[in-house]
Amino acid sequence: MGKVYLTGAGPGDIDLLTVKALRVVREADVIIYDRLANPDILKEAKPECEFVYVGKEDGRHTLPQDQINEVIYQNALKYENVVRLKGGDPLVFGRGGEEAKYLKERGIGFEFIPGITSAVSVPAYAGIPVTHRNVAVSFKVVTGHEAPNKEHSQVDWESMKADETIVFLMGLHNLKNIAENLIRIGRPKDTPVAVISKGTTPEQKSVTGTLFDIAGKVRDEKVETPALIVVGRVVELKKDLEWIDEGK
Ligand code: SAH
Repeated sequence: MGKVYLTGAGPGDIDLLTVKALRVVREADVIIYDRLANPDILKEAKPECEFVYVGKEDGRHTLPQDQINEVIYQNALKYENVVRLKGGDPLVFGRGGEEAKYLKERGIGFEFIPGITSAVSVPAYAGIPVTHRNVAVSFKVVTGHEAPNKEHSQVDWESMKADETIVFLMGLHNLKNIAENLIRIGRPKDTPVAVISKGTTPEQKSVTGTLFDIAGKVRDEKVETPALIVVGRVVELKKDLEWIDEGK
């Protein structure tokens, strides 16, 4: 019986893979990976390593989660070193906890190998610190996948009234709803917003605006997934702190 390493692949830039993740990738007998994990990481594996793709697009799974759990389990019965490679951090909207629970219930050992989450690293590559003295003393990472007008929303919109940073993952297609909802609960219409697509990769692209106009700008610019949304006054720091020449 094998061991499963529930491993974060980082946000895209392969140099943001941790040393520990690289070590388990090099020792893996099989790597079960997602769409968001940089495929160049697979080149680090042994020649005889097997690869299993279980990608999902935003919230739409190509394989339902219970089947992914079973694929990981079956591979753990077959191989000694099983790497489950997931974009960013495996436990930040990564369902790593569910996969670990499934394995544990079946007597399979596992380890979590945290990764650099897109939630903080993608803003950093766009020159946006998620906290900044006198600007934002806290930040929230929220799923943008849930439609804000859903009747029994699990997302607590009222809690986002404070002048803090909010990072929405999986929210690109809901951007208009998200912005409208934040205005509705009282965030000023001119609150700065950035949408960053394919962050930390050579195709990184940022669009900035306000809660009022961001949805239109993003539509005009044809922003592609994966993309995240940063809301709050920290976005204003971007003009002084951006350090990547996007598009070059
Ligand atoms: N576990 C991942 C997040 C999974 S949810 C992590 O810790 O980063 C998937 C969402 O993450 C995407 O919809 C997008 O909002 C965000 N995301 C992941 N990689 C990204 C990237 N390179 N650029 C912009 N957003 C990214």
